[in-house]
Amino acid sequence: MKNGWEAIIGMEIHAQLATETKIFCACAANFGDEPNANTCPVCLGLPGALPVLNEKVVELGAKAALSLGLNVNETSIFARKNYFYPDLPKGYQISQYDKPFSSNGTLTIMTSERDEQGRAAGWQPLTIRIERMHLEEDAGKNVHEGLPEVDKYSYVDLNRAGTPLGEIVTAPDFRSSWQAYDYVNHIRRVLSWVGASDADMEKGNLRCEANVSVRKIGEEKFRNKVELKNLNSVRFMQKAIEYEIERQIEAHEKDETVAQETRLWDDKNNRTRVMRSKEDAHDYRYFPEPDLQPLTVSAEFIEKVKSEMPELPDAMRDRFIREYELSYNDASQLVSEKDLAEYYEATAKASNSPRVSANYVLGELTRELNNSNKPVSNSPVSADNLAELVKILDAGKINNNQAKEVLTEMFQSEKTAPEVIKEKGFEQISDSGAIEKIVDEIIENNQNQVNAYRGGNEKLFGFFVGQVMRASQGQANPKVVNELLKEKLSQ
Ligand SMILES: [Zn+2]
Repeated sequence: MKNGWEAIIGMEIHAQLATETKIFCACAANFGDEPNANTCPVCLGLPGALPVLNEKVVELGAKAALSLGLNVNETSIFARKNYFYPDLPKGYQISQYDKPFSSNGTLTIMTSERDEQGRAAGWQPLTIRIERMHLEEDAGKNVHEGLPEVDKYSYVDLNRAGTPLGEIVTAPDFRSSWQAYDYVNHIRRVLSWVGASDADMEKGNLRCEANVSVRKIGEEKFRNKVELKNLNSVRFMQKAIEYEIERQIEAHEKDETVAQETRLWDDKNNRTRVMRSKEDAHDYRYFPEPDLQPLTVSAEFIEKVKSEMPELPDAMRDRFIREYELSYNDASQLVSEKDLAEYYEATAKASNSPRVSANYVLGELTRELNNSNKPVSNSPVSADNLAELVKILDAGKINNNQAKEVLTEMFQSEKTAPEVIKEKGFEQISDSGAIEKIVDEIIENNQNQVNAYRGGNEKLFGFFVGQVMRASQGQANPKVVNELLKEKLSQ
């Protein structure tokens, strides 16, 4: 980084756990329903209503922790975090404080800086400390738009109040915006992979905050940090951090104070702006939640959750590289999404041609899916059908360009590869009798070239191949043509 400065970044991620019901009551955890439709005395915070912990939250919390290589503490304690805000009906949030669900872990991710075009410049492992992951309930939402007379009134929607969250807090171990970017993507992918969270930032079920400060390399103390909030895409988050690093370095170099404050990303103007200046550190007056027992998680429970976990993406990537001889980049792209990885593996196995399968899945198929805006789980070409095409290609019955054209047509019409090949008349002539006839004719009609070839001008071989292919209108199997020509010309 410029002039001997380094960035110090810590991340906080709130992931909504993918339960059907809320954390302490039986209300649906759906978001986007009619406002306040999913509420009851517990999540409305009515006096006398008692919370009951949803066991599914513990299971998904454990899945989240284990998938990130974190421990699950045998005992964790729910605590009240007291503050006042209109979207928090009880006047406190049930969270965890000094005894969280998981603590003192580490996580290794793959990360890379990017060049001007946004291309990865070399992937490296980076191990960061995860201070804690705790379970808590979400607050409701104040609504300031889309309702009558919003200039006069604020509205509160409590459908979200009481939906379960896992909050993951790292130590300030990131040194660049791209490291933070790769970290959030790692978390998103792993949590959705194991089904712990939908982890969709656009839908708000994964939210992240970044704490950013800078210091001179060699300094031990931290300078004032800025908290970046409302980062609703991972790309905006990266831009916000990058902007903030530059802004703070510039301020320090001019001997200006960098205020300890919360800032938002303003995407229209490509800059961060102040949301609120940090009052004195909040005093949340945490104390143990008297209405809930300490949460104990048995070793058997953890074993059971472990046994139900799928193979994790990084392990799958390494296996693809090892078993299928794929490049790191191809294997990484294939495991970017669980459905894609499974689709690929089914194709590779059924076609017995893992590398060609990878090319087609990452190339033509992905392009067709993107163009038609379909997820791979909804692909009109099944893995078996793609595998059939790959097999036909591998057998030399059609060439690569024809295979691409066939795949496009399969995608549009949902027909099988043999059906499309037949319709398009791509079936190559593999019958060596028919090809032999053409080869004989070509040799007969080009005696000068035959003599030159036999006299040592081996470059002419390509000429003969070209003639035979032309005579067969491109439909002769090139492998058979080559074999026959070699045989006949050497006589
Ligand atoms: Zn409720």
